[in-house]
Amino acid sequence: MMKLRIAIQKSGRLHDDSIKLLKECGIDINNGVNKLKTEASNFPLEVFFLRDDDIPQYVEDGVADIGIVGENVILEKNRPVKVAEKLGFGKCRLSLAVPKSVEYNGVKDMDKLRIATSYPVILDNFLKEHGISAEIHEISGSVEIAPGIGLADAICDLVSSGSTLFMNGLKEVEVILKSEAALITNGNLTAEQEALLKKLLFRIQAVKKAKN
Ligand code: ATP
Ligand code: ZN
Repeated sequence: MMKLRIAIQKSGRLHDDSIKLLKECGIDINNGVNKLKTEASNFPLEVFFLRDDDIPQYVEDGVADIGIVGENVILEKNRPVKVAEKLGFGKCRLSLAVPKSVEYNGVKDMDKLRIATSYPVILDNFLKEHGISAEIHEISGSVEIAPGIGLADAICDLVSSGSTLFMNGLKEVEVILKSEAALITNGNLTAEQEALLKKLLFRIQAVKKAKN
């Protein structure tokens, strides 16, 4: 029988809410820790647990048919996947932050800065759009410590409450992107899978509506 295969984050900020959304859609999955994949007992759905960074590629390649991932990752990976529905959780901002003592009066103050980020693609697009030439330093983690160790003048990183910035003596001065989790799909679903996706989207929309 034909199934729909969904990729969700294995562990991290989107994992619990992704599982919760499926449950609220009436889909029973046993969420065993350290499992690579599992199957729903009452919906033709197979669930793959992956690193969020890999989800757009797996969906593009058709290893999974659909996936749940942050819009920030979708844009940074720049893969040809379609956003079928925004999901209302995993909300955050990709923001520029500078040391508290630094004066900042607008995008033109980004000119010539050395900016550390794990999001070079999104940042580069933003700089180009605003005609600013800054130096992008790509680093994969702990971006917030870069100014303190002299590696950069500013950072471009994900923010939700702002407490990490505050603890590192930084202040948020510019929002580059607003992001939330989204359901993505590839363009190669069979008619049967399209019908299953439609059913799932219908349930997701009902869950979202009930929360408003
Ligand atoms: P993985 O091991 O899957 O690669 P990760 O460490 O890259 O995980 P998480 O920190 O779990 O990722 O974040 C996953 C997603 O949660 C982010 O890409 C973003 O869309 C969202 N998110 C929401 N709030 C925040 C926040 N304050 N900081 C980072 N990500 C956030
Ligand atoms: Zn990741």
